Amino acid sequence: MMPVVALVGRPNVGKSTLFNRLTRTRDALVADFPGLTRDRKYGQARVGELEFIVVDTGGIDGSEEGIELKMAEQSLAAIDEADVVLFMVDARAGLTVADEAIANHLRRCEKKTLLVANKTDGIDADSAVSEFYLLGLGDIHQIAAAHGRGVLSLLETALAPQLEALAAEREAVEADEADGEALEFDEQELAEAMEALDELEDEEATPFEDLPIKLAIVGRPNVGKSTLTNRILGEERVVVYDMPGTTRDSVYIPMQRDERDFILIDTAGVRRRGKVHEAVEKFSVIKTLQAIEDANVVLLVLDAREGISDQDLSLLGFVLNAGRSIVIAVNKWDGLSQEVKDDIKRELDRRLGFIDFARLHFISALHGSGVGNLFGSVVEAYESATKRVSTSMLTRIMQMAQDDHQPPLVRGRRVKLKYAHAGGYNPPRIIVHGNQVKDLPDSYKRYLINYFRRSLQIMGTPIRVEFQEGD
Ligand code: GDP
Ligand code: GDP
Repeated sequence: MMPVVALVGRPNVGKSTLFNRLTRTRDALVADFPGLTRDRKYGQARVGELEFIVVDTGGIDGSEEGIELKMAEQSLAAIDEADVVLFMVDARAGLTVADEAIANHLRRCEKKTLLVANKTDGIDADSAVSEFYLLGLGDIHQIAAAHGRGVLSLLETALAPQLEALAAEREAVEADEADGEALEFDEQELAEAMEALDELEDEEATPFEDLPIKLAIVGRPNVGKSTLTNRILGEERVVVYDMPGTTRDSVYIPMQRDERDFILIDTAGVRRRGKVHEAVEKFSVIKTLQAIEDANVVLLVLDAREGISDQDLSLLGFVLNAGRSIVIAVNKWDGLSQEVKDDIKRELDRRLGFIDFARLHFISALHGSGVGNLFGSVVEAYESATKRVSTSMLTRIMQMAQDDHQPPLVRGRRVKLKYAHAGGYNPPRIIVHGNQVKDLPDSYKRYLINYFRRSLQIMGTPIRVEFQEGD
């Protein structure tokens, strides 16, 4: 599970400056969902090999009353979902009453909290920050978010347990791989190398067919996720049982369909049948992002009546970033006139053109139409993402692509592709070896990716092609 880091502090201490520095993508997911009165921003970040979610909780100053207090509570609720809180103060402004109020709250939360003094650039930081010891939160981490100073070591401290766990995992994998010899690429040995790789593949093969497909149903509030989940489960007569967990945990529901095992990752909170609607579960962006990360295939639900919003596109961005397979369900397709349907389809074509590999389904979760067909696409996407393809097959396809369209000259020498092999699954990774391959222009890389996609009939999943210098 990706850890979650929350940025907390009164307005103007530099939370958004730090947020922007940390998040890889500019398209942060802004949560102006119903039920959240103040914008929170969610982004994906990385320290070393470790990916994490960063949440900018918006400003709170601890002195709120009335409506302001309600808003502050919303922001503080984000702390519950976090693994680590970075409590930011302003080294230049010094200690304020608002800082003390927030510190009081944080001490009661019993959450791992790091005190971060920002804006330490160009001042005598050690003496400036000393008064913050009065907050009783221990060590003070000095940073200058605007310049990046101190940020890396702050993250390494904040996420030390997670980084250690990851390093241990990596070590175990590397120990396994150490047996594999580095490959030489002279023509004679190529065939042998390819054979050896395929044997290695076979030995390590996980029988993907035997594993349950983890399917996450995600989408904005009110698009019909729980109606759809209930529809699917209702047909399957699966018993839903309560599972304990915090607000950020999804419910994992095992089910079977056409003799295949699935695990439904329910982010909406299934309304238990027989019970009248309980308090509607709060929408949690973190829950959604974690579910995407943990899934094999993501079923993104859109509301036909609402069109595609920026939030839908942000969610889609997260799915693709995570390399997950995807099926898109346009829900509430009932009771629309042909004219309206045509309009919606045109809009979808225009805005979703960039993921032409995803299957689009028009469904009514309420009436059940189209719901059954979703599973065909889900299985197809999963099989595409886990398809085993031999080195010789990949090399042959690569060769055909190269024959149809020669790679360009770079610095007077023609780029030469030598062979390709599978580098992983979920999403499929293909490693292409050759000379000067790092210099291939993006247009040629895209051409190759599409060639692989068409030849291997890969649907519903992104493909990653990586290039390795063969000399
Ligand atoms: P937020 O309200 O907590 O999100 O604060 P902002 O990120 O908007 O920053 C408030 C102001 O502090 C802006 O004018 C920033 O440029 C400034 N600021 C942020 N980080 C630093 C820093 O490391 N050094 C200095 N000198 N100014 C900073
Ligand atoms: P969630 O927040 O994404 O879980 O959405 P819900 O499943 O709670 O649905 C939100 C509202 O949309 C409810 O009033 C549903 O009855 C309605 N709804 C869900 N699916 C459909 C559908 O296929 N057609 C129509 N017309 N309404 C639907």
